[in-house]
Amino acid sequence: MTEAAQLRHLRFTDRALRAVIAAPYALFVPTLMTVDHYGDSPLHPAGELLLGLGAVTVICVAIFAFLIREWAAWSYEYRHGRQLRSPIDWDHRWNDVRRVLEKSGLDIDTVAAYSVFRAHFNLETLHPPGRSLGMLGVMADWGARHNQKLIVTGATAGVAIAVAGEVWPGWYDRPQFWIGVGVVTAVIMPFAVWNGWSQYRMNARRPESVVLIPTQWRSRLRGDTPTATAVFLHEVSHVRHHDVSRRRIVAMYAHFAQFGAFLDAGMAFTVRGSEGPLFALFLIMAVSGILAVRRARTVLRLVEELRADAEACTDEPTRKAMHHFLDGLPTPTRQTALRSRVLTTPWKLSYLFPALRVTALMTLGNAVPLITIFTLLWTGTVSPAPDL
Ligand SMILES: [Zn+2]
Repeated sequence: MTEAAQLRHLRFTDRALRAVIAAPYALFVPTLMTVDHYGDSPLHPAGELLLGLGAVTVICVAIFAFLIREWAAWSYEYRHGRQLRSPIDWDHRWNDVRRVLEKSGLDIDTVAAYSVFRAHFNLETLHPPGRSLGMLGVMADWGARHNQKLIVTGATAGVAIAVAGEVWPGWYDRPQFWIGVGVVTAVIMPFAVWNGWSQYRMNARRPESVVLIPTQWRSRLRGDTPTATAVFLHEVSHVRHHDVSRRRIVAMYAHFAQFGAFLDAGMAFTVRGSEGPLFALFLIMAVSGILAVRRARTVLRLVEELRADAEACTDEPTRKAMHHFLDGLPTPTRQTALRSRVLTTPWKLSYLFPALRVTALMTLGNAVPLITIFTLLWTGTVSPAPDL
């Protein structure tokens, strides 16, 4: 099969794996609808759908808020970390590096590159998160600097509120308090939305990716050097696809998706039946969902590596050189072994078997049982659990 087909398969697999991580969020909608439908005061089904969609949106936005906090911390650390590096101005000393980049069809202006002084040759891709403009950025930095104190203050305030509730029961149960809360929210909301939107644009939709190039590469890429070229272009592929920034986003959503899969598995208890089989079904759904999300994250990495190899090694000499480089690594892993095999044999769909297994696990172990329960319940084929 051709290289174009390989890249197409990898792109499709990448989407499928991201869908596995998104599945627990999507399946939380029918779960919430069912819980409300058979609860004490059910809404109209359309209202239940809106409730489910709204709740999932709020959850996703809340997770995004965590991400913004992490970005602020990384951004601060990146700007204040004491690593020696300077932007590359592409003067004549960098001609050999530049030639390799341009030969692979890259626009030099679109690749942000920094030179570093270090003893080893390793290239490194970085995503220094952007900082919001003006006052919000200053506040984000302040928050990153005083993170520890803010956590302690938050915890203390939580305890104080709990104590106040005990000492003066119903202290919040007066209009003045709620008007105050409303005013504060109305004032803060536009800033939060604006900050969230600019953070999304800067760090998720169009993140900045930087490649740190040790100065040794200037001489390393001189002349005919297939291995160095392959390794170099492999890293550049990660930079162009913003893999580092994407991994952080995926990690955050995958983290909470595991908990979501666990909650979704609770759908097993919404039907009337004997406890044993229902508990077994719950276990199957929970374990399949959690495992699928965890593995999807790992396999996504493999897909990124395979894509980077495919983009870097477009001719036989570079493919061979990369193959030898991978085989010569001091710590070979199953992933590098597979990458090495892919480089030397014609592309086969069976290489993507780990991804297929992950997708099947989520589909058959979690999504299909959940949707089946939902359909059977809502069509009245099975009766709901009495205490739902
Ligand atoms: Zn890589």
